[in-house]
This record gives sequence, C-alpha cells and structure tokens, in this order.
Amino acid sequence: MSIMVPSTTPALITPGRQALDSALHQLDQAAAHLGLDDGLRTMLATPRRSLTVSVPVRREDGRLDVVQGFRVQHNVSRGPAKGGLRFHPGTDIHEVTALAMWMTWKCALVGIPYGGAKGGVAVDPAGLTTRELERLTRRYVSEILPLIGPEKDIPAPDVGTDEQTMAWVMDTYSVSAGYSVPGVVTGKPTTLGGSLGRTGATSRGVQIAALAALGRSPEGVTVAVQGFGKVGALAAQYLSDAGCKVVAVSDVTGAVYSAGGLDVARLRAYAAETGGVRGFHHADALSHDDLFELDVDVLVPAALEGVITEANAPRIRARLIVEGANGPTTPEADTILAANGTTVVPDILANAGGVIVSYLEWVQNMQAYAWSSGEIELKLRDLMLGAFSEVTSLAAERGLTLRQAAHVLGVGRVAEAHQMRGLYP
Ligand code: NAD
Repeated sequence: MSIMVPSTTPALITPGRQALDSALHQLDQAAAHLGLDDGLRTMLATPRRSLTVSVPVRREDGRLDVVQGFRVQHNVSRGPAKGGLRFHPGTDIHEVTALAMWMTWKCALVGIPYGGAKGGVAVDPAGLTTRELERLTRRYVSEILPLIGPEKDIPAPDVGTDEQTMAWVMDTYSVSAGYSVPGVVTGKPTTLGGSLGRTGATSRGVQIAALAALGRSPEGVTVAVQGFGKVGALAAQYLSDAGCKVVAVSDVTGAVYSAGGLDVARLRAYAAETGGVRGFHHADALSHDDLFELDVDVLVPAALEGVITEANAPRIRARLIVEGANGPTTPEADTILAANGTTVVPDILANAGGVIVSYLEWVQNMQAYAWSSGEIELKLRDLMLGAFSEVTSLAAERGLTLRQAAHVLGVGRVAEAHQMRGLYP
C-alpha cells in the first residue's frame, strides 16, 4: 500500500495558505469598511464545518493508494452551502477554505440564496484511468456523504472535474438515498437534469463582465487568456465571437501567440485532440510568464490562484483584468495594479456566471422543470449585469476598487443575515 498524502511541514507556506491569507485580507478590509465587530469578523473568517477525509483508491494494477480529500462549508447563513469540487495535486485544506469563503461572498453578491462551500481531492486526475477516477470520486462522495444533499450542500465542477464527475456524484448519492436526487449536484449532463447553458455559464459571465467593463465596442479589442480549460477556452471563444481579437492563450502544456488573432474554435479542437495548446501550427510559442506582460487591452486569468503577484504586476500592460479564475491576484499585486490605473473585475463578480446557472439548475431540479436555453441566458445576463452595476456604483461612490466594493456588498449581506438571525443558543 502506498500513501499519497502530501507531506505536511507545519512551517511551509503552501499556495493554498497564500490563497487563504489573501481571502482573509480581503475580508478584513471589507469588515473594517463595514465597521463589523471583532466577534462577527471572526465568525466570517472561520468555516462553519471543515472535513478532511482519507480516500483509498484501488489502482488498475491492484495497488491501493490513499489520497486526501476535503469539504469545507464556510457559511450557511443565507441558504445551503454551494461550491465546486477540485481535483488537483496541490489542493489542501487552506486552499479549499479560501475557495469556500469566496463562494460565500459571491453568492451573496449576485443575490442567490446559498452559502459558500468547496471540495477538493489532492490528486492529479491526468494520472488516473477513467475507472480509477470513477472509484476515487465515488469513495470521496461516500466519505463526505453526511455533509452533502440538495438542502445542505451542493457540489459542482471546478478544476480537474467535469460533467462526468458530477454524474458519478449524483449516482453515488442517489444509490445511498434509494432514489434519484438530481438536486444534490449541479453541472450534471442534461440527460440527468443538468441545465442548458451550464457548461459555458462561467465563461459567458466572464464575457458579459468584460464587455460591460470595457464600455466600448469590443471590435478589435486584444485579449490574452491564461488557462484553456472549461472556463478559459469558452471565455476566449465568446470574447472572440463578440469581436475581440484573442492574441494569446496558455494552459499547462504551454502558451501560444498570434498578433493577428488566434482562430479560437480551431485551437479548441486542436487542444481537445492533442491534450493542450502547445504546438498549435497557426501561432508562435510564448513563455507562460510573457503572456502576462503582453501589450493587450484585456487579460483574463482562468487557471489557478496567486498568478498575478508583486513580481509581475508592475509589468502588466493590460488596462483591464477580468478574473475568470478564483483568487488569481494577490493583495500586493492589487495595490500595484490600482496605483497603475488597471481595472480589475474581481473573481467573485467576474466568474459568478457558473454559480448563477448552477442555482438555476438546482431550482429546476427542485421543481422537476426545465427552462429553455434562451430563458437561462436572459436570467444569467440580468443577474450578472445587476451585480456589475451595484459594484461599479458603490466603487465610484466610496472611492473603492471593484474588488473592495464587491467584498463590501458580499460580506455586508452575509453579516446582515447573521445579525437578523441572531446567535443560537
Ligand atoms: P479546468 O481544470 O477545466 O482548467 C484549468 C486550466 O488551467 C487548464 O487548461 C490547465 O491546463 C490550465 N492551467 C493550470 N495551470 C496553469 C499554468 N500554470 N499556466 C497556464 N495554464 C494553467 O478548470 P476550470 O473549471 O476552467 O477552472 C479554472 C478557474 O476558474 C479556477 O480558478 C476555478 O476555481 C475557476 N472557476 C471555475 C468555474 C467553473 O464553472 N468551472 C466557476 C467559477 C470559477
């Protein structure tokens, strides 16, 4: 038996710990602005429930591996916990806590009745066969089973998971319940009660936020996108469809650049076939770091946390950053970008399209009903633009960055929910 649990050196500052420090810093700023007392601030800084599990996985060659899994419910004052499930070798309890906290503010900001949660398994899905992945997912779900449910906590896809993963989550939960429970998870295939429009929802939201922030015709606006997965590839596609010129994209395999604009549809087909963007014939190769420093109008980070730091922020030339990823910008980088006049549409606003359509999927499941893709798109647009306008108005009124304004709104609504409910007992 081999143990794949990552070593835990107490003094080690992991990327996950850095993400949590960023999230706590953003909370502190909002709490100070709102004048929240220390007790309530501490309550909001602390997850309500935090579970670490060991997940044994039988490999194809008969070996038994054990990986660590997590589920964190950061806050449930406004409704059931909601948040993605990440499969990534670097994930840890700190990262999952940070991501759960951002989900809490995001749901409150866009006005949907959820608290924030997140799940993670410290594993590289690319290193497992489909059957191993299925066994891993089912065992992880059975380990966290007491926490999840359509009225308690509803997972969804995130980095390294997809519709198939969600179908396994739904099936495992349903088998245990003894009947089908589609509302336990969102981002499912449509044949299992998934919503039309969920696959592209986060990217559609990124496009809506980017075009609203641009405030001018997208024709010829140049864009670079870091991350070419579920969010980044379709964000590049939708921005290109709107008239923008996507000149560079990257994924783990490499980065590609074309001054004349990439053919995004062709690049998506190439990446699907070869496993990445590297080697795309109709573009030049670029280094991962150079992508951030291109002279473009819009930069869309859509990979992982902590990629825009005090080291590269001074060299970023994009005037607008639209955060498809959660937590891509550190607080130190935020200060530099603000001083340089770069507008940052923050994650909890820019990538909220995913949880908005997840919410619509859950409402449809609870009513055993399905809306048309046109209806979904309209509702998504309304909620995104409503939140965008509230954030930009508050930022202008109080001299805040868009991130600060978004946090003041999100944190303020959760704090209000606590105050109205009172403290039990
Ligand atoms: P994904 O696994 O589908 O894609 C991740 C992409 O990032 C892949 O293309 C991967 O190759 C790339 N990547 C990883 N490390 C990289 C690096 N160092 N440089 C360049 N590219 C790199 O994940 P996703 O669902 O697209 O999620 C991406 C981000 O968006 C995450 O921060 C996630 O939390 C956030 N997000 C996702 C959703 C959703 O609905 N999937 C919703 C809201 C926010």
